Amino acid sequence: MKFAKRMDYLKASEIRELLKLAERPEVISFAGGLPAPELFPTEELIKVSEAVLRESGRQALQYGPTDGFTPLREKIAKRMEKFGFKTAVENILITSGSQQGLDFSARVFLNEGDIVICESPSYLGAINAFKASMPEFVEIATDAEGMIMEDLEEVLKTRENVKMIYVIPDFQNPSGKTWSIERRKRLIELANEYDLPVIEDNPYGDLRFEGEIPPSLKAFDTEGRVIFLGTFSKTFCPGMRIGWVIADAPILQKYNFIKQGADLQSSTIAQREMDKFLEMYDLDAHIENLIKVYRNRRDVMMEAIKEHFPSNVSYTYPEGGLFTWVVLPENISARDVMPKALEQNVAFVPGGSFFPNGGHENTFRLNYSNMPEDKIKEGIARLGKVLKEMM
Ligand code: PMP
Repeated sequence: MKFAKRMDYLKASEIRELLKLAERPEVISFAGGLPAPELFPTEELIKVSEAVLRESGRQALQYGPTDGFTPLREKIAKRMEKFGFKTAVENILITSGSQQGLDFSARVFLNEGDIVICESPSYLGAINAFKASMPEFVEIATDAEGMIMEDLEEVLKTRENVKMIYVIPDFQNPSGKTWSIERRKRLIELANEYDLPVIEDNPYGDLRFEGEIPPSLKAFDTEGRVIFLGTFSKTFCPGMRIGWVIADAPILQKYNFIKQGADLQSSTIAQREMDKFLEMYDLDAHIENLIKVYRNRRDVMMEAIKEHFPSNVSYTYPEGGLFTWVVLPENISARDVMPKALEQNVAFVPGGSFFPNGGHENTFRLNYSNMPEDKIKEGIARLGKVLKEMM
C-alpha cells in the first residue's frame, strides 16, 4: 500500500519501546509529563457532572458551535489577565487540548519545506505535530534567559522561507527554563520586523512556585501576531482535553476552518463540565494546592540531585512547571544510561528526541510531579549511582 509522503516523517521511536518498561509498577518513573492523579478533583467533578446533566443535559449532549461554549470562553478570557493581556470571547477558540492548537498551527502556517523556528530543545509533541506538514526545523540555542536573540536574528537575516516561530517561554518542556522579559520583548520586535507569526505555548505558566508570573509574549504583541495556546491539562486534568487558541480574528478564523474539518467542535459535555467547575469551585485555590505539592517535589528532587549526581553534571533549577533538565559530559549518552537505570527500576526520557535535528544525546529530562517525595529521593539516589559508575 502507498502512504502519503508525510508518513515518512512520522516514525515510532525506540524510546517509546523502552518507556513501556517504565510502566511496570516497581519502576520509579521520572519519564512522563503526567500531573499527580491523587490531586484530581474527582469528588467535585461528580457534583459538577450531576449539575450539568440535571440543569442542561439535553444541550450538554448535543452538538455545539465550533468556537466552543461561550460562557467557558468568557471565563478563559478573564483568566488570561494573570498573563498580562486582555482578550475577548471572539478571540478564543476551544480546542481538544493545546496539542490540537499545535497541530492546527502547522496546518495554518506551514507548507512542505518551510522553516519553523523552535527552541533547542523543544516539546516533542509539537515537533511531531509539525512534522506532518514536512517543514524544516531550525533550532535556536537557549541559555538561562531563554532563546538567544542574536542567534535568532542571524537565522532571520540569512534564511528565506521562515514561516513560523514556536516557543514555550514559561517552564519549558523539556528544559524547565523561563525566558527573561527582555528576551520576550526582543522576540516580538524581531517577529514584527520579519512579519512572522509566533506560537506561544503556555501550559505551565500558572504553576509558578516562587516569584511573579511574567507578562506573556502576547502581552507585548501590538500587531496581532502572537497566537497563544492555553490548556487546563496541567492546572485541572488532562483527561478533559480542553485547551484554547487565542488570536486576532483573521488568524483565528483560519483555525476555526481547520477545526471544522478536524472534529467539528470539542466535546460539548466536557466544556460544560469545565465551565460548571469554574462556576462552583475556585480553580485558583486548586492551583495553589498543586503548587504546594509540586514545589515540595521539586525541592526534594533538586536536593537529591545535588547530593547524588556527579559534580560534572549540570541541570536547570525550575521555578515552576513539571521538569528539570540534565546535561551530562559530552561523551556520555543518556540512551546508554537508560537501560542501566531501568535495571535499577528508574526511568527518565533521554534528551535526544527533543532536538528535531538530532544530536545532544548527553541530555535527559526528569519529571517530578508524578512521584511521591520518598520515591523521588530513592530514584535520584539510584540514578546518581548509575551515573557515577558510568563516569
Ligand atoms: N505543549 C506543551 C509544552 C506540553 O508539555 C504539552 C503536554 N505535555 C502540551 C502542549 C499538550 O497538552 P494538552 O494537549 O494536554 O493541553
